[in-house]
Amino acid sequence: MGKLTGKTALVTGSSRGIGRATAIRLAREGALVAVHCSGNREAAEETVTAIEKEGGRAFSVLAELGVPGDVHELFLGLERELKERTGATTLDILVNNAGVMGGVNPEDLTPEQFDRLFAVNAKAPYFLVQRALSNLPDGGRIINISSGLTRVANPQEVAYAMTKGAIDQLTLHFAKHLGPRGITVNSVGPGITDNGSPVFDNPEAVTAMAGYSVFNRVGEARDIADVVAFLASDDSRWITGSYLDASGGTLLG
Ligand code: NDP
Repeated sequence: MGKLTGKTALVTGSSRGIGRATAIRLAREGALVAVHCSGNREAAEETVTAIEKEGGRAFSVLAELGVPGDVHELFLGLERELKERTGATTLDILVNNAGVMGGVNPEDLTPEQFDRLFAVNAKAPYFLVQRALSNLPDGGRIINISSGLTRVANPQEVAYAMTKGAIDQLTLHFAKHLGPRGITVNSVGPGITDNGSPVFDNPEAVTAMAGYSVFNRVGEARDIADVVAFLASDDSRWITGSYLDASGGTLLG
């Protein structure tokens, strides 16, 4: 029996990258996983298929985050599917993973780009947590994917890093708020992690990026997924409101 047998989980942005690896990992522990993304059903279904191939249980739910009505739409699909499969709408584990990066010089970032980063990376997670409060049972889990860039400066990502700073505040304050219910809320801060994007096919770029970690490699999505699985399990019951550095020692300087 897995550590999450009988649990339900939503992993936002799990059609690829860290989210996909996390969805697969949670399902491997026995959770029924809602695989979410904005619109690429084929990619979401690839995650579902990968889970089912291993004997796990999952379904896809599509909803673009960062637009009006986003959380409502996501929960319409989520609750419908949960009810069909479990007879209830209980959500034991919420992983706020979906996110977008900036990659724009600080001088060039537009107000629209700034608003978009905050809408997807900070506002959506806040209202997902708020909406999930009635679905989360006592002892539930909220895991927010932050970033090592909350601790290391990268001017091209100043607004992105600001959104992740907001995520860490979401973690801190909701951890106190939900403590009486035994719900833990934690942030995980990845460093550079191979998410399957083309830059990770470039050996020179990978060598340069690997140099940031004391282990001299870039992170794999499963490195982060394993940390999330720990935080989702009962093993982490005494940890809340924390920021877990999952950067392969990048922050050690
Ligand atoms: P990817 O870009 O590989 O995947 C992002 C996922 O989020 C996709 O499933 C995507 O689905 C979904 N998504 C993006 N925008 C939206 C939206 N507006 N609405 C709904 N879904 C959306 O991301 P990573 O795996 O690289 O990153 C995952 C998390 O980890 C992010 O929060 C990121 O900031 C953080 N992180 C990543 C690092 C890295 O080096 N990879 C380092 C530090 C932090 P779709 O394509 O359908 O929109």
